[in-house]
Amino acid sequence: YFIVQTDNLSKRYGSFEALTRCNIDVRRNEIFGLLGPNGAGKSTLIRLLLGYLRVTSGSCQVAGFDPVTDSVAVRRNVAYLPGDARLPRHMRGDGVLKFFSQMHPLGDLARSLDVAERLELDLSRRVAFMSTGMRQKLALAVVFGPRTPLLILDEPTANLDPTVRNEVLNLVLSQRNEGRTVMFSSHVLSEIEQTCDRVAFLRKGELVKRLTMQELFQRH
Ligand code: ADP
Ligand code: ADP
Repeated sequence: YFIVQTDNLSKRYGSFEALTRCNIDVRRNEIFGLLGPNGAGKSTLIRLLLGYLRVTSGSCQVAGFDPVTDSVAVRRNVAYLPGDARLPRHMRGDGVLKFFSQMHPLGDLARSLDVAERLELDLSRRVAFMSTGMRQKLALAVVFGPRTPLLILDEPTANLDPTVRNEVLNLVLSQRNEGRTVMFSSHVLSEIEQTCDRVAFLRKGELVKRLTMQELFQRH
């Protein structure tokens, strides 16, 4: 029933606690928002879920697997957009999409190309000569390729202008019809309101609240 579950998940970097006893559950086929200002611990939480960071204490489970003991299985089931997506600079956009569609076990080049077209991205350009916004579009085309049960997006709309931002939010919404689950982080409340079924608020590493969108609106 839950595709992501954390149990008192905590992370310290040295003596600094970036995530404090976090408990969230994400249901299958929902759009789940992780909302919080910069530095709240959103990326830390996401990177723990994928097994890219060592857990300090507590535990978590993603798509039926424990990222601490089986990060390979977790990553097979997840398409992940990092907050600081790095792309091979010497490649052209189309080369990048081809490369990543071959890397992921569930890669699907046609889907990536379709997203690039929806975002009106010029794929003939080399990454080195792309603007920040173009690179973000390319990273999005990469991540929307694989048809994984779970999609985790760290600040997917950063660096995008409002029109493209809306297009991305529509893409996120359309994933629900495919039976996928999306978890995405943002520091923009309106984006979360537009797209999410439920939301968790993080502040200074602590989970402040978990709400359904209905509850969120009632508080306004
Ligand atoms: P872990 O318990 O996961 O090994 P560490 O506390 O050792 O966590 O830090 C993880 C990584 O983050 C290390 O590579 C460390 O050099 C780096 N790091 C430590 N402090 C900072 C900081 N203030 N900003 C960015 N990176 C840092
Ligand atoms: P968010 O994604 O919400 O902006 P992060 O998870 O990136 O937040 O960061 C949470 C806090 O942890 C911030 O104060 C940040 O400076 C700190 N932090 C992140 N990575 C490291 C690291 N490797 N080492 C030390 N501190 C870190």
